[in-house]
Amino acid sequence: MNRKRVLITGAAGFIGSHLCDKFLSEGYDVVGMDNLITGDLRNIEHLFPIKEFTFYHHDVSKFVHVPGALDFILHFASPASPIDYLKMPIQTLKVGSLGTHNLLGLAKAKNARILVASTSEVYGDPLVHPQNEDYWGNVNPIGPRGVYDEAKRFQESITMAYHTYHQVDTRIVRIFNTYGPRMRLNDGRVLPNFFYQALTGKDLTIYGDGSQTRSFCYVEDLVEGIYKLLLSNYVLPVNLGNPDEITISQFAEEIIKLTGTAQKVIYEPLPTDDPKQRQPDISRAKSILNWEPKIHRAEGLRITYDYFKKMLDVK
Ligand code: UDP
Repeated sequence: MNRKRVLITGAAGFIGSHLCDKFLSEGYDVVGMDNLITGDLRNIEHLFPIKEFTFYHHDVSKFVHVPGALDFILHFASPASPIDYLKMPIQTLKVGSLGTHNLLGLAKAKNARILVASTSEVYGDPLVHPQNEDYWGNVNPIGPRGVYDEAKRFQESITMAYHTYHQVDTRIVRIFNTYGPRMRLNDGRVLPNFFYQALTGKDLTIYGDGSQTRSFCYVEDLVEGIYKLLLSNYVLPVNLGNPDEITISQFAEEIIKLTGTAQKVIYEPLPTDDPKQRQPDISRAKSILNWEPKIHRAEGLRITYDYFKKMLDVK
């Protein structure tokens, strides 16, 4: 019996909680950590009876102590939706910078491999389309999104520095828009907003004229890609996302059709620095990880809709 042990930060969050499920199902011992400022214990309460799961309520921006051996660290702690990092700009900057520094130090001390969660936001409002990993991005450092974007860019930088100077075994994933069960209904992102509005008889709010695009990946596909990247030998950043691109107007239409709501769309101002288009180039993930998303948006949206209906107790 030589079970591997993995620390997952942001364990009570949307992606973090699915990662906990995945690693437990693959036979790992999982140590979850979260300070619960945006995470929700309900996402992991089903794991509390499992003896292979341990949870620490801790802010990783402060020194991180984990007793015992660690084979892997996955750093997924961060506010990640625009309204969250607008409300908590300093915490967002700290968890991406100080938090990453602490976890790289922990990885070095424990001789563990560490994978950090980066983001398509490192490309900012991209001038290259679709975005591949060699693009350096178009980020406004002092705009409202800058606190997230620059924290994640610093995170990539310090991760590569620990790899180069301390030979820490590192992985960097750049995550594009992801959705699925356990997203917070009030996290302000387009998909929970639209579902919430459709389910509570409100008009769907399109920001701007709705011509901006996004590409949505179902969380199970993403988690599979992260798992493969962690176990690969590849240290440079890898995009993970679903290249199936759609305008926000088309997306609203899909939600209206799926939910059968009688509501219409209304238009609100476009937030500052909102990217006009976003689509991952996933050639690298395809060739290095032999990974590509499998779940079509129609199927993923249906599963997510059922989840939100249950959350709101709508029959
Ligand atoms: N958006 C929208 N209506 C909403 C929420 C968001 O039209 O109620 C737009 C937002 O302006 C952006 C896109 O949907 O262009 C995706 O926004 P989200 O907050 O989900 O994530 P982002 O990809 O911008 O980080």
